[in-house]
Amino acid sequence: MMALADSLTAPVNKVIPFSLVDGPGSRCSIFLQGCNIACKYCHNPETQNLCVACGLCVEQCPAGALHKQGKQVMWNKDACVQCDTCIHVCPHKASPKIERLTPSEVFEVVHSYQPFIRGITVSGGECMLHPDWMRELFSLCRGAGLGTLIDSNGCVPFWEHEDLLEVADGVMLDIKAWDTDVFKRLTNGDASVVKRNLALLAEHDKIEELRIVVVPGWNDPEETIAGIASTLGSKIASTKLKLIRFRRFGVVGELADAESPTDERMVELEALACKAGFGTVELR
Ligand code: SF4
Ligand code: SF4
Repeated sequence: MMALADSLTAPVNKVIPFSLVDGPGSRCSIFLQGCNIACKYCHNPETQNLCVACGLCVEQCPAGALHKQGKQVMWNKDACVQCDTCIHVCPHKASPKIERLTPSEVFEVVHSYQPFIRGITVSGGECMLHPDWMRELFSLCRGAGLGTLIDSNGCVPFWEHEDLLEVADGVMLDIKAWDTDVFKRLTNGDASVVKRNLALLAEHDKIEELRIVVVPGWNDPEETIAGIASTLGSKIASTKLKLIRFRRFGVVGELADAESPTDERMVELEALACKAGFGTVELR
């Protein structure tokens, strides 16, 4: 197992040492680069793709923190002044500011924060694109007494990675829409995978929380609440739902100027979710 951990890497975009919004308690949050869907309301579109080394940002970096090495763009973290010019000029929704790290290297960083955190949360992009890497990292964290959460869009089949679920405390799962066509239009993803994941995670008692981002005119929160309720059955009483208001900050493309839902709309959906039986409903 150690040989695998020493050779596997994942593209790490960012590590937040202490976060209070990525699960219970203070947690170290690890964000991986690259996603398997493309949500129209994505707030961090530069995390969607891996760099294709076109070189455009290398020439524009004012600090000389980027250089091309073969078919890769290398980032000098110490020289970077975090101006984000590279992100603004990238035509590929990518970032050159990533580090390819092994589970052991990330664990070393996490371990240095251990006295101040309850656990870790791995997010993205889409972290489930790196299941073997996460399994190794989670095993190291669990061995040290730290909690382990996955933050996922649900579009990777969890049923192919049940060994990962064994070392994960739970999953914070996005349910972006319920209707297949609505889901496709909003994310370019496949709703059927998310629905099957929802049922599987419920069966294994691995749902940490479910999240619906309410995007006026673009998704179907009523149908989503009803669909989740019928999938969860009696388990809905112990399930937490976060209803998140769409905000246009950072959004590019068709939804860049879209309106947020009104307070009345959010309260109406909160009432509907409570009536459907969710144990906890939070508005964000
Ligand atoms: S943020 Fe990007 S462009 Fe700015 S200094 Fe760092 S690497 Fe260079
Ligand atoms: S980050 Fe974007 S602009 Fe920079 S080299 Fe990679 S693909 Fe090109």
